[in-house]
Amino acid sequence: MADAVVVGAGPNGLVAANVLASAGWDVVVLEAAESPGGAVRSDRGAHPDYVSDMCSAFYPLGVASPALGSLDLERYGLEWRRSPAVLAHPLPDGRCAVLEEDPERTARGLESFGPGDGDAWLRLWGLWEEIGDDLLGALMTPFPPLKSGASLALRLRAAGGLRALRFLTLPVRRLGEEEFTGPGGPLLLAGSALHTDLFPEAAVSGAFGWLMAMLGQRHGWPVPRGGAGELTAALVRRLEAVGGTIRYGARVTEVVVRDGRALGVRTADGDAVRASRAVLAAVSAPVLYGGLVGWEHLPTRLRDDLRRFQWDHATFKVDWALSDPVPWTSPGASRAATVHIADGVDDLTRYSAQLAARRVPDRPFALVGQMTTADPDRSPPGTESVWAYTHVPRSVVADAGGAGITGSWDAADAEKMADRLQGRIEKYAPGFGSRVVGRRILTPDALHGLDANLDGGATNGGTAAVHQQLFFRPVPGSGRPETPIRRLYLASASAHPGGGVHGGCGYNAARAALHAQTPLARHVIGPTLTALQRLLSGPEV
Ligand SMILES: Cc1cc2nc3c(=O)[nH]c(=O)nc-3n(C[C@H](O)[C@H](O)[C@H](O)COP(=O)(O)OP(=O)(O)OC[C@H]3O[C@@H](n4cnc5c(N)ncnc54)[C@H](O)[C@@H]3O)c2cc1C
Repeated sequence: MADAVVVGAGPNGLVAANVLASAGWDVVVLEAAESPGGAVRSDRGAHPDYVSDMCSAFYPLGVASPALGSLDLERYGLEWRRSPAVLAHPLPDGRCAVLEEDPERTARGLESFGPGDGDAWLRLWGLWEEIGDDLLGALMTPFPPLKSGASLALRLRAAGGLRALRFLTLPVRRLGEEEFTGPGGPLLLAGSALHTDLFPEAAVSGAFGWLMAMLGQRHGWPVPRGGAGELTAALVRRLEAVGGTIRYGARVTEVVVRDGRALGVRTADGDAVRASRAVLAAVSAPVLYGGLVGWEHLPTRLRDDLRRFQWDHATFKVDWALSDPVPWTSPGASRAATVHIADGVDDLTRYSAQLAARRVPDRPFALVGQMTTADPDRSPPGTESVWAYTHVPRSVVADAGGAGITGSWDAADAEKMADRLQGRIEKYAPGFGSRVVGRRILTPDALHGLDANLDGGATNGGTAAVHQQLFFRPVPGSGRPETPIRRLYLASASAHPGGGVHGGCGYNAARAALHAQTPLARHVIGPTLTALQRLLSGPEV
């Protein structure tokens, strides 16, 4: 019998398994797919000579994350690579806002968009230098983040107190209006904020955009040499080196619960795998609760809470193999591996409103990755491996573009949407289409088929909106990996701190399982936290 069973070999499951195996536990990871990685994998699906990252591609959260950092993956073959510039946002008039690795250089570029905008950027960078590390520490820790929270509170006080706190709540549109006179700085922040499902007018979208941009300023937005799959390969190599094992093609269908305790799991082919200490489920919250764990084992209130669980948007992605680099009109866009395409902040609002009204956007916001620009190993010399994704409604009522996209995501829908996304790039890079030598489309259904956690291709395991963050994630009264079932932990991106490849959800689950073994945790800390959660959640209905 294993000490722990981990369900899912995505980044969170693999980080959890590594932490437990390093602590001397006998760990088995059960993975439904035939290969590891979840949303961190690459293949040659667009063209045999080109590596395509099938889902995630850039890892600023990964390099900054204490969880992934603690695993020393460079020793297991991981090598980071970076493009000459971090991020570019070309404008219709040919200008281009560029996030450079050097803050002073970014500031000089932004000054050309509006007087004082260079200083404004440096102010934002200065604030990051004051509070960034503590903010990240507090965000990555299970709720309540006592130590890191106290340290953040002190830092915030020194950085302006309530004014600094107010800054963190701002919608990204408002943040741009308050700090900048031209469009360059606001666009770098707003495009970064829209890596989540937040509107530019949503509370805390400013903090998301600022965090992503400042991570880029500090670390770049690095990519693994050879493809996203190499990050997974390093996690697997490390896990095997510390004695953990992975079984592929093992879809877990049930967490076996007796007397309120998780005893192990059952797989689709009928195998029972027992765990003497813990089951860590790196699956989505809606799959775990009421799916792998029957409602008869769970509090009644959780069922109602889960009914209110909000997924983030569906995702539509295209991979291209190009014979030449992308022919951007703005030279700045050629130096950055990530390029954001939206005609302005108003265009981002328009796109978000169409998504909210369940219309397929007519001018989709395109997040573009030109991977050979960051890592020459991705495709033959002089060529480019490119992808772009955008979001589409989870259920479609109409096509705002008038092409009759229905949301069935059949071949006709897929081709029309891929052409629309390609058209967005073509506008800023005329001639793009003539360089395409391979194209692969990943519809929301295809992404979901690849990985059961990606419901409709949702990138973040549930909305990033404030009503489902911190102690509201995934349901009110959580914010920690513990579940109502003893010895069962939620380890996926549906748990706090949420989506992105930082491994924090898996790390927190593993640490909680380890701590639960100590008498202090079993008899004092555990019951206290449970009582606190019950108190905050209100009465059972
Ligand atoms: C298109 C796309 C682009 C993204 N881009 C970025 C990016 O550039 N940078 C970034 O930081 N983040 C990005 N993300 C988000 C990031 O990839 C995810 O938040 C992260 O992978 C979540 O990790 P996870 O381990 O919780 O889940 P996943 O990575 O989804 O892995 C879950 C694993 O569990 C397995 N599984 C599910 N159910 C079962 C079961 N019942 N039994 C056994 N196994 C099961 C799945 O097969 C899968 O292998 C992107 C996501 C998508 C979809």
